[in-house]
Amino acid sequence: MVNTEIIPLKVLSEKIGITTVEITKRLFKEGIMKTINDSVDFDTAAFIADDLGVELELKLDKTAEDVLSAGFEDVLDEEKDLVRRPPVVTVMGHVDHGKTSILDKIRKTNVTAGEAGGITQHIGAYTVTVNGSPITFLDTPGHAAFTAMRARGAQATDIAVLVVAADDGIMPQTIEAISHAKAADVPIIVAVNKIDKPEANIERIKQQLTDHGLLPEEWGGDVIVCPVSAKTGEGINGLLESINLLAEIKDLKANPDRKAKGVVIEAKLDNSKGPIATVLIQNGTLKVSDNVIVGTVTGKIRAMTDDKGRRVNSAGPSVPVSIMGLDEVPNAGDILYAVEQDKLMKLVAEERKNKERENMIKSASKVTLDDVFDRIAEGEIKGLNIIVKADVQGSVEAVKQSLEKLSNDEVRINVIHAQAGAIKESDIMLAESSNAIIIGFNVRPDSNAKQIAEKSKVDIKLYRVIYEAIEDVEKALKGMLKPKFSEVYLGKAEVREVFKISGVGQVAGSYVTDGKILRSGKLRIYRDDVMICEGNVLQLKRFKDDVKEVAQGYECGISIEKFNDIKIGDYIECYQVEEEKN
Ligand code: GDP
Repeated sequence: MVNTEIIPLKVLSEKIGITTVEITKRLFKEGIMKTINDSVDFDTAAFIADDLGVELELKLDKTAEDVLSAGFEDVLDEEKDLVRRPPVVTVMGHVDHGKTSILDKIRKTNVTAGEAGGITQHIGAYTVTVNGSPITFLDTPGHAAFTAMRARGAQATDIAVLVVAADDGIMPQTIEAISHAKAADVPIIVAVNKIDKPEANIERIKQQLTDHGLLPEEWGGDVIVCPVSAKTGEGINGLLESINLLAEIKDLKANPDRKAKGVVIEAKLDNSKGPIATVLIQNGTLKVSDNVIVGTVTGKIRAMTDDKGRRVNSAGPSVPVSIMGLDEVPNAGDILYAVEQDKLMKLVAEERKNKERENMIKSASKVTLDDVFDRIAEGEIKGLNIIVKADVQGSVEAVKQSLEKLSNDEVRINVIHAQAGAIKESDIMLAESSNAIIIGFNVRPDSNAKQIAEKSKVDIKLYRVIYEAIEDVEKALKGMLKPKFSEVYLGKAEVREVFKISGVGQVAGSYVTDGKILRSGKLRIYRDDVMICEGNVLQLKRFKDDVKEVAQGYECGISIEKFNDIKIGDYIECYQVEEEKN
């Protein structure tokens, strides 16, 4: 029995009772080149074992994370347990179009009598009740916060309200907001604001919306457009009713009768109270004294307050609460799970911290133009998401259309955002959360964006000629962009003696029988014509001197990095890897 899908030959050797060298020989006969330090997948291992009459069984170890997710993601709620939950709304739009004013107006005019006891608290989200139906608003307007959260894997929003000032019309950040909401598959309701102004022109806004793919209902589309004024309050109720209407159509449901799952909206360290986080509950009910795990942070809920500053003992689906009792400050966008046993909570936290460390070393694998073909071939991704930025609108359109035409049966090209202007931080975040690459024409990332892109490993390709960009993407889809490497054979040496030198390990006293051995070359060791190791030269010496190369007919001492199993009679082959230019 083995407990991993990838099995080192050493482990396999112990399980089936033949040497690793014997295993490499058997693999070689099947056309699989492996060295004794390599691993094979379970199917290959099972095949080799089967040959010897040994039945190999795969039984994967369960991680604490698996146990946690078995209790949450894997347990589907039954229809009978589901009840309606309030919609969660984010307000987006161009700066100064009135996002904050609309949020404030909604909040002030919708504090019902029953709730008036409390003093409004800014905890990052609040709930208002309209005709008996509650709606939860996230308090940080704008698509940047929305996508930052999504980049962490959290989708908190059900509906986006897109604010467009009636006197100003669609502006760059309006277009960004549309792209961000669409990429997240969140439906949009448009609030045309500032209709109290004499220069307001609602029909013009509707035309602009149509030009950007949002066709108003009254024009035969499915986008609700609500004229409002945050100043006079006109139309605000209509907007709220439209939100409720859309929520009803979306049939948002959750099961309050289970352990809570939620997402962190904001978090901070309070001098007297310790770490405080606002959590939006997404399913289940969170209760005081529940054990919770939030990202890598653990804790036990000590106290909870709602958005009116009142103490509460429990919080159900779509309810935002401020919680106390966490051991550290979590990140916005982290998912909270309430767990039965605190032991599981500690184990999950430990596993996640380890994984975080590993990931920092490996750095997350973002799609790049160079590896898109392989990722598609391996079924990891089904299409390529692209963000196009260019200096002028004309190029934006031209590139977008040419790129989308490259889609074929196997691969879809999705241009998820296309806009004139420099590459900004919010573009990188959108790329990160949608696993997209960014193509820029005669534009560059600003310094902030550049830094974030480097950290998040988002691939940015910059071009001066449209044709070159199209060609690159086309080549990438066909797998032709990958740099090709080829091996150049350099020479061969026979091992005639083996010494041990402290600090270096084994040294193979060898005789170069063909070509030459290079200090900078790569090595392969063959025993009875079976390759047993691949590695780099650690030292290459003639007598006592380090040398760069040793030619045919000469003797030398070769030591190999991380390999100490050399034997007299082995052959050492030396080669170089070179990138092919085409
Ligand atoms: P944000 O940047 O989108 O959050 O916009 P703000 O809510 O800060 O509003 C920007 C400016 O527009 C402020 O000076 C508001 O007073 C003004 N404003 C917002 N809504 C309205 C409105 O409905 N009518 C008028 N006349 N002015 C408004």
